[in-house]
Amino acid sequence: MSNTKYIFVTGGVTSSLGKGIISASLAKLLQARGYSVTIQKLDPYINVDPGTMNPYEHGECYVTDDGAETDLDLGHYERFLSVPTSQANNVTTGKIYQSVIDKERRGDYLGKTVQVIPHITDEIKSRIRLLGKTGNYQVVITEIGGTVGDIESLPYVEAVRQMKWELGKDCLVIHLTLIPYLSTTGELKTKPTQHSVKMLQEYGVQPDILVCRTEHKLNKDIRNKIALFCNVATEAVIESIDASTIYEVPLLMEKEKLDIVVLNKLGLPVPENIDMEDWKQFLQKLKHPKFEVRVGLIGKYIELKDSYKSIAEGLIHGGVANNCRVKVEWIHSEWINEENVAEKLAGLSGILVAPGFGKRGIEGKISSIRYAREHQIPFLGICLGMQCAVIEFARNVMGKSDAHSTEINPSTSNAVIDLLETQKNITNKGGTMRLGAYPCQLKEDTKISAVYKERNISERHRHRYEFNNEYLGDFEKAGMIASGINPEGGLVEIVELINHPWFIGVQFHPEYKSTVMKPHPLFVGFVNAAVEINSLKAHSTTAAN
Ligand code: GLN
Repeated sequence: MSNTKYIFVTGGVTSSLGKGIISASLAKLLQARGYSVTIQKLDPYINVDPGTMNPYEHGECYVTDDGAETDLDLGHYERFLSVPTSQANNVTTGKIYQSVIDKERRGDYLGKTVQVIPHITDEIKSRIRLLGKTGNYQVVITEIGGTVGDIESLPYVEAVRQMKWELGKDCLVIHLTLIPYLSTTGELKTKPTQHSVKMLQEYGVQPDILVCRTEHKLNKDIRNKIALFCNVATEAVIESIDASTIYEVPLLMEKEKLDIVVLNKLGLPVPENIDMEDWKQFLQKLKHPKFEVRVGLIGKYIELKDSYKSIAEGLIHGGVANNCRVKVEWIHSEWINEENVAEKLAGLSGILVAPGFGKRGIEGKISSIRYAREHQIPFLGICLGMQCAVIEFARNVMGKSDAHSTEINPSTSNAVIDLLETQKNITNKGGTMRLGAYPCQLKEDTKISAVYKERNISERHRHRYEFNNEYLGDFEKAGMIASGINPEGGLVEIVELINHPWFIGVQFHPEYKSTVMKPHPLFVGFVNAAVEINSLKAHSTTAAN
């Protein structure tokens, strides 16, 4: 295979411009032209991974098959490409320093002063090249987190400068900036972009392509002006206009010929055929749904919707598969109690209880589940959501009124959810949960086997606590069955109710594996159940009229 090509995506002017979506969109287009591509994210913070951060700080923590706790942008990469990412796809300053310091202690640099340059920058470069070295990818896109000019980004920008120098035509830099619109004068302003490019140039990096985020179209004059002042070709000034959905961005980038400019600059052939038909169909269905359902997402971090990014996207994918727009009602679990639950959840066609950690909002989740169970509303419980479903059933159906998880009440006399044996002696917090993909075997003739239509599945986990198998017999007698089991240890991974149209709790996170081209069966099944309940309701009101 010819040399791997490296593309860097940096950001300027402001954060949150959508480097992740631009990287994923470019990767999608290259993939659609037949190239094998992967995307990597470099995060300049000192945490080893985002697993120890509160979702309010960082949004959702995304988990890969091989058990890495990563930035949520990796979720976008997988949703766009349908290719799994791994530990190597997310590198943080914490990881870089940890490994350099480990090497120093081992004596790898014996006699030398260990410094940011060259030791930290060399470590960064080797992490970037790691994916190329697998031989699996023709193109590696590396997104640099943060904004150019941030103190903590400096070693990364220097690593980019060095790689560009070393790799020549096998490397290019895309800089994402903002072209603000001043409504008072009705003008688009290019100066912030010019300044941001100047800053990159001060560090020795000349961007090859500028992707300009804008609310209004960029005319020829503006493109020429940006090109002239920033040393880039006019066709390499790419407009990235605000889109109604992130899934439109690849098509907008295709229109702007971003993929063609990239391939030309890298000296790669531009295959004429671009396979975006399925993607276009998805978008068409997303924009023109036949049905609409209202689904409640019950969680305690709803002030920051990024905390549940993959779940929200999974519901979109599941909706499209059912020709349905899923209107998500974000409901704070702390707002709900036994008295107001009927009013708060009125009219919903589906109830999803989200993952989480700790005590806050737990009783609101349990009340919501009781409501879903008693009113036969489709229910999906994910991780803590599944654990709460078990607690609710033990309390209100099996009469074990103090049933709980030992995470919340360590002295409960009915620990229906308990710490895994292997977790009991662990004291370190980072990377020590049950993480990554585990196999699960589904029982025949269950709701879940109808959902998956296969016997053996693999799903990603991120938790410490687990269904307590001592109670399994009692649960099954009372009507909550274990319909998915880990074949190695016998752990209960899925529960469902016998007397309910669609009530499923899963110990794993299906949201991490839902992609545009492969919507996850649990989201497809959940939305389908919501559509059915909705049409039944519509029927009964028409009949009553
Ligand atoms: N806090 C629970 C546990 O650790 C659930 C975790 C989650 O929802 N991801 O088991």
